[in-house]
Amino acid sequence: MSRAELTFHGAARRTTGSMHLLRYGRRTFALDAGLFQGKRGEARHMNKEFPLRPRELDAVLLSHAHIDHSGNIPQLVSRGFTGKVHATGATCDLCRIMLADSAHIQEEDARFWNEKRAKSDEEKIEPLYTNDDAKKAERHFTPTDYDKPVEFADGAKATFIEAGHILGSACVLVELDGDPGVRLLYTGDLGRRNMPILRDPVEPLPEVDYLITECTYADRHHENPTDMKQRLARIITQTRDAGGKVVIPAFSIGRTQNIAYYLSRAMNEGLLEPLPIYVDSPLSVNATEVFKKYPECYDDKARRLHSENGDIFGEGRISFITQVEESKRLNEMDEPMVIIASSGMCEAGRILHHLKNNIAEEANTVIIVGFQAQHTLGRRIVERREEVKIFGRMYPLLCRIEVLNGFSAHADRRDFARMFDSLAGKLKGAFIVHGEGSQPAAMTEILNSAGCRNIHVPAPGDSFEL
Ligand SMILES: [Zn+2]
Repeated sequence: MSRAELTFHGAARRTTGSMHLLRYGRRTFALDAGLFQGKRGEARHMNKEFPLRPRELDAVLLSHAHIDHSGNIPQLVSRGFTGKVHATGATCDLCRIMLADSAHIQEEDARFWNEKRAKSDEEKIEPLYTNDDAKKAERHFTPTDYDKPVEFADGAKATFIEAGHILGSACVLVELDGDPGVRLLYTGDLGRRNMPILRDPVEPLPEVDYLITECTYADRHHENPTDMKQRLARIITQTRDAGGKVVIPAFSIGRTQNIAYYLSRAMNEGLLEPLPIYVDSPLSVNATEVFKKYPECYDDKARRLHSENGDIFGEGRISFITQVEESKRLNEMDEPMVIIASSGMCEAGRILHHLKNNIAEEANTVIIVGFQAQHTLGRRIVERREEVKIFGRMYPLLCRIEVLNGFSAHADRRDFARMFDSLAGKLKGAFIVHGEGSQPAAMTEILNSAGCRNIHVPAPGDSFEL
């Protein structure tokens, strides 16, 4: 029997629930342990199914903090996992915030369904995990530096290298001793060059025998992120001149800091006349604190600004709001302003109040800066419906809508082609994950034209000897 084997569980022919198992000798390790997201009942069922008993898992190598990669760790712990979760320091800190938030969502969700079920004899449902479980999971997180190999088992090393996707994100290089040994690179989610704040993904990627790669945007081209600062400044200036307010729905972690950073720079560089700017989200405030703690993860530009001003998120000019009362007060103010709030797809959170109060005015603008999934309010706004439903009431969508695609944190077709160019021809095998529809085929084409001949798009449960 071969000493090493890969088995695919989550994010196999889909984009959520990332979890790939690596068996080495008698031990088993997970590359990520994410939540499946999607239709409630189906996702709930999938999130409870593990491919092995959690106590049999020796360690988790975690690529980054996004919930579809990290979100099932509290459940692993509550069901018997006793090993370490290896990740970069920034990922460990971001997970603390994100897993607590995810636990809150799980608990609220269970409460909602149990209230509905109270009238029938249907069994009550338990939250997938609780805040207490998320707290217990924190103890398993073991921060590791970028580029320093960590021995996660006898004869097995992992090195976290910059992926440029979100703060703390890494591609995981796994090296297994043996004759011959095995070198494997798991991309996690790969980012792009020139993203605000973050360093670029490492290039060239290390030479390996096997590659597990995401393919989320292997079939697309994104706009350039560096154009986004000017475009934001222009749209905000025009809206201010018309006497309107700008509302920006944005995820609390990552996108919100990108926008705050660009707006702060635009004001410093004279591209944007200072005006009141509010980040209205307690989660964003906590996440921004984590960003401030890791200037070593910034690119040169952000690091220089940080050492000159001690701040890159516009404090003093941008107000970070945590209290509900302050949030409500924004609705009573008439002057031009910018409000950044979550959730990013306008499905919940304070953004709903700001949209409700502002979308029916022609002078106002909503700027969409992130992907909007089908059946979300954000998508209906992008589609410029005549009316949209918020809190059960219809509101006319009369404001200006602007869509900026350049903030995507995922590599696109050109990025993948460039990064895999020198690597693919030397691979013994490649496994394509984290994609659906036409995306795996697009990645197959990229790898193929770079000279890789042994390419797999594994289904859940598929195993491969290395
Ligand atoms: Zn991600």
